Amino acid sequence: MITSDTLRRIAHFDSAGLPVVSAYVGLPARSESPRAARSRLSSMLSETEATTSDGDLDHDARLSVREDLARIREAAPTGPPGAGAVALFACSGRGFFEQVRLPRHVRDRLVVDGTPWTRPMLAVLDEFHRAGVVVLDRADARLWELFQDELGDELALHDTALRGSRYAGWHGLDERHVHDKAEELRKRHFSRVADTVRTLARERGWELLVVGGHHEEVSLFVPFLPHGLRERVAGTFAADPGTVRPAEVQQAAAKVVEDYERLEEVRWVEDALGLHAAGGLAVVGVEDCLWAASVKAVQLLLVQDEATVPGLVCPRCGWLGARGQTRGPCPVCGAPTSATGDVLEELAEAVIDNSGTVEHVSAQTRLAEHLCAAVLRFPLPAAPSAE
Ligand SMILES: [Zn+2]
Repeated sequence: MITSDTLRRIAHFDSAGLPVVSAYVGLPARSESPRAARSRLSSMLSETEATTSDGDLDHDARLSVREDLARIREAAPTGPPGAGAVALFACSGRGFFEQVRLPRHVRDRLVVDGTPWTRPMLAVLDEFHRAGVVVLDRADARLWELFQDELGDELALHDTALRGSRYAGWHGLDERHVHDKAEELRKRHFSRVADTVRTLARERGWELLVVGGHHEEVSLFVPFLPHGLRERVAGTFAADPGTVRPAEVQQAAAKVVEDYERLEEVRWVEDALGLHAAGGLAVVGVEDCLWAASVKAVQLLLVQDEATVPGLVCPRCGWLGARGQTRGPCPVCGAPTSATGDVLEELAEAVIDNSGTVEHVSAQTRLAEHLCAAVLRFPLPAAPSAE
C-alpha cells in the first residue's frame, strides 16, 4: 500500500546538496516483452550515466548518482504487462531509496535534480482518494485506511476504555436509568471515535470517510463528526464491528469509494461541458484540447479512460496535433513532427508537466462522444491554420 508517510518522506527529502535521481519506468506494455521494457530502462540509464560522468558534478555527487543508477537498474520493475509504472527515487550518498508502484502508465523519464521530482507520481495518485474507514456500533469501533482499493492494517483505536464496560456496575438501577446510562455511554463513545477519526484524517490526509455499522447506529454516529469531516462521508455500508472480516470491509468500502469517484467524474464532466456551453473558459473535443495543451492553457483535463487517438507531436516546441495521416512540419515552429499512436497520452503528460490536473473519466458520461474536455487558465490564441 502507498502510505501517506512514504509520499511525505519522498516530498520532504533533503539531500543536503547531493543530486537526487528520480526515474519513472513503465511496466511492459501489453504488446511488449519484459525484455524490451528492460532495454528501454537500460538505455535511459546509460544516457544519464554518460551525461553525469563529465566534470559538472563533484566527486561525491558523481559517486552517489552512479550508485543511484545501479540501484535503479537492479530494482527495475517487474510485473504483469500493462499494469502501470514504477516511480523510483534515489540518493545513495544519503541512504535514500524509495519506489512507488503507480496504477497508470506514465512516460519513461529520468531526472537528476536537487530534489525528488514527484509531479508525475502525484498527478497519477491524485486521481485516487485516500479514505478512512470506520466500522462501529454503540460500544465498539474499528478503523482502517483505504487507498487504491487496498485496505491497510487495522489502526489502533487508542481509547478502548468503553469496550466491555457496557453493563458493568449497574446493579440496582431500574430499566429507565439503565437506558439513560447506556445512551450517555453511547454518546461518549461516539464522540471519542469522532475525535480519533478527526486526528487520523488530519495526520493521514484522508479526503473521504466511509462508515460501516448497523444502519441506525451509523446515522446516530455521523452527526458526531466535525462539520468538515461530515461533508467528506462518501457513503456507508452495513457491518458488525464484532464479526466483520477485513476482506469484507475492503470490498464494501472500495465499492463506496468507487461509486463516489464515478459520481465525481460525472459532476466534473457536467461542469466542464456546462462552462463550455455558456461560453466560459473551457474547450471540448480532441483538437481544441490539443491546441490548449500546446499553449499550456489547461488547468483541468478530463479525458475518456482507455480511449486512444493517433496524432502528431512536435519534439521541439511541444505542439500536439490530431491529424494522423498528413505528417507535415510543426505549424508553430516548423520543426519536423513525429507520429504517435496515442496523442491523448501525450496530451495528459503535457498537462501534468505544466502543473495542470488530469482526470481519467471511466464513468458513463457525455464525455464519451468528445473524448476530452478541458477547463482553461486563459482564452486560447487562434490555432495555426492546418497545412
Ligand atoms: Zn513545434
